[in-house]
Amino acid sequence: MKAAFNTEPRQFEIRDVPKPEPAHGEVLVRVRACGICGADKHEFAGKRPARIAGHEFAGEVEGLGPGVPAHVKVGQRVCVAPITTAGVLGYSRPGGFAEYCTAPASALVSLPDHVSFADGALTEPVAVGVHASTRTTVEGRTCVVFGAGTIGLVTALCCRAKGAREVWIVDVQQRYLEVAAALGLRSVNSESDSDLKELPQGGVEVSFECVGNVDAVLDAALRVTCRSGSVVVLTTGHTKGIPTHLLLSRQLTVYGSMGTTMDELQEAVGLIASGRVPVKPLTNVTFPLGRMNEAFAATVGAQKVMVTP
Ligand SMILES: [Zn+2]
Repeated sequence: MKAAFNTEPRQFEIRDVPKPEPAHGEVLVRVRACGICGADKHEFAGKRPARIAGHEFAGEVEGLGPGVPAHVKVGQRVCVAPITTAGVLGYSRPGGFAEYCTAPASALVSLPDHVSFADGALTEPVAVGVHASTRTTVEGRTCVVFGAGTIGLVTALCCRAKGAREVWIVDVQQRYLEVAAALGLRSVNSESDSDLKELPQGGVEVSFECVGNVDAVLDAALRVTCRSGSVVVLTTGHTKGIPTHLLLSRQLTVYGSMGTTMDELQEAVGLIASGRVPVKPLTNVTFPLGRMNEAFAATVGAQKVMVTP
């Protein structure tokens, strides 16, 4: 089979390698679409042993190893939870930037027929948004998401699906905000509105930090949140720490949000399938696996680049 190996920083080599054999309790998945994650962008820019990455993918079950439960069938359309009992797909075991991948049957989530593989490949990031939007109550509340990349957008869409009163999204990149606007989210460009005057003043009850590495963004998330409000942090890389005077004077609650669960992946498929979280506008461009180098180059300024092995 063909697989993409990240051999040098920002460089991929397509190699012919043996098709993997599913072990006990595992299935062989024919990968049909695999997204490049924000975390991958950082990973691929560094130097590390060549491996098959890719943890946001969907495909069809093509083979069954011994001991796979009877309800799992050949031909079943699935997406796969990347963190499995047998390792993390795309990290400690080969992932989805390949024609085939093996995964434990227990990590499969079924995709309805009308959900395309490209949309299905977004199940994992949507589930990250489901997780974030359940860290605190968003129903009936005014929410602001900082960062209109994939995770920011899906978090905003999940807040809306869960009945938030208003959902705003803040970013500096106009291109990102246009996608947000196309999805019906209220957007603020923090470059042209650095004081965030367009946000409901004093009325933001929950804010989400989905940018990472920028202290000013975490500060802004705390600053715009009203008394007794909540701040949900999905990122890391801040160096300054939390401004405790705001925590105290506003009596804010800060939540961390990381990863997802099988139930949330299931919920994410439902949200995608019903159109309550419309994911199609998130994919800016799609490349075949053979053009992995171009796909990676296209991630600059893109929310989601999809690869079809
Ligand atoms: Zn990811």
